[in-house]
Amino acid sequence: MTGGKIFRGLGLPLAEAVAISGTRIVAVGSDALMFELAGPATRRIDLGGRLAVPGFNDAHQHPLPLGLMMGQVNLRPEYVRTLDQLLEAIRAEARRLPPGQWIQGRGYDDSVLDVERPPTLDELSAAAPDHPVIIFRLCGHVGMANRAALAVAGLTAETPDPEGGALGRDASGLTGLIQERAKQLLTKHIPRPTTTELVEAVDRVSSFLNSQGYTAVMDAGIGFADGMEDITAYRAARDSGALSVRLWGCLFGNPEGIADAAWEAGVRPGSGCEMLRFGAMKVFADGSAGGRTAAMTEPYLQGGHGLLCFDDAQMHGLLAKYHAQGWQLAIHAIGDAGIAQVIAGMRKAATPEQPLAGRRHRIEHCGFLTPAQMAEMATFGIEVVPQPIFLYESGETYITNVGRARAERSYPMASWLREGFHPAASSDAPVSTTDPFLNLQTMVTRRTFRGTVMGGDETIDIAQALHCLTYNGAHSQFSEHRRGRILPGMDADITVLSRDLLSIPAEDIAGTQADLVLLDGRIVHDRQGEVS
Ligand SMILES: [Zn+2]
Repeated sequence: MTGGKIFRGLGLPLAEAVAISGTRIVAVGSDALMFELAGPATRRIDLGGRLAVPGFNDAHQHPLPLGLMMGQVNLRPEYVRTLDQLLEAIRAEARRLPPGQWIQGRGYDDSVLDVERPPTLDELSAAAPDHPVIIFRLCGHVGMANRAALAVAGLTAETPDPEGGALGRDASGLTGLIQERAKQLLTKHIPRPTTTELVEAVDRVSSFLNSQGYTAVMDAGIGFADGMEDITAYRAARDSGALSVRLWGCLFGNPEGIADAAWEAGVRPGSGCEMLRFGAMKVFADGSAGGRTAAMTEPYLQGGHGLLCFDDAQMHGLLAKYHAQGWQLAIHAIGDAGIAQVIAGMRKAATPEQPLAGRRHRIEHCGFLTPAQMAEMATFGIEVVPQPIFLYESGETYITNVGRARAERSYPMASWLREGFHPAASSDAPVSTTDPFLNLQTMVTRRTFRGTVMGGDETIDIAQALHCLTYNGAHSQFSEHRRGRILPGMDADITVLSRDLLSIPAEDIAGTQADLVLLDGRIVHDRQGEVS
């Protein structure tokens, strides 16, 4: 690749060109130097002045659930803006699938539909009389079912509402509306995905991530989609070549997860290959700040302190066990009370034979930590894996829930970098969008979708933001010696961008596209067909 701007890594000078041999980078420097190295068989890619960066790394994401969702009928407002369009999408799926098979849709937004309401039970039933249908609103908390779905689930006007959920009702009976935990009354009747469907989901999501510039990702909950089948699917996808993004595997380690089953099946920390490696273990300490379930010392403005998923003894027991087994701990904690429980548990888990140093245990999200907690984490080498994109998507809700001052101090990217952490920027998709450019822009601006600036002193510059989305991701996966920078000897995982992020205004970062993506020197995405 010549004639471009090569971002080698934070603090390193830009280069013009990079030479690749096989799967590795062999030289980085001036055009003149690369022309000297080129032989008669050398294939040249002209960057035409474009910026090339290390392949993006999404250090906390849920690729399998995302891939499965991508296989459902997409009703998001980008695609569906009228009731007719929504019903036609359901009818089309009914023509495609054999009668009796579930139709699942996601992402409708009744506030933007022309009728400003979800479809009625009658409308949804008429669109697919012979298929059970369930569709969920954008938020995922509310949905609509058709008559066939209610029948399969055996739900009638006599069915009581479950705890924490409700079925919509009117004078004629159920309306098809399902809220919160009433979802499970229906979804438990949907057959589990087959291995083939899981592999298809990996294929779909890998290509999609490549198209956005990603070459690596962590699955932050292997087992979420279908227990141990997730591992089977990932291995099959790796063997068939469908897995085109490097995957750092983090097993779901809650008691209802797959930690013990995977251990019995011989899955060990560090096992795998450069495309698929198992290394981390996930446990949930609390909920979310948007849903007011993250465990906070100070109450939410609406009242309540959120909740801890486990008491200290249970949590510390799990952490000690997984630490002793050799896993990297990747523990979900968002509120300061949750974070406190996790830090204490990690410290307790350490032994003279197995200290914390070098283990790179991580707190996932870690949004609302105190300065004292940050200092303690720095002392013990506990890392953070934040989602800057949350500020864009949920920042307004944080302000509503905890007030402006606390909300603005959340996800302090600049402080983390200053204190020597390796904050690995990530998306938590499908919770948030995977769009890497919106994530980068949010790190630089800390603006919510409405434009509110969430603590301007925690903004970082674009080079630092790129560092957080590349090198720090690799660091979180113990692979920074091979990936995350463009240096001789490293894997040729490189993304070429449509805009020069280093010189454009911050508000133009979102809207950039990945033109070319190389993984192991192989082209896995070519937006304009320029190389093929
Ligand atoms: Zn997550």
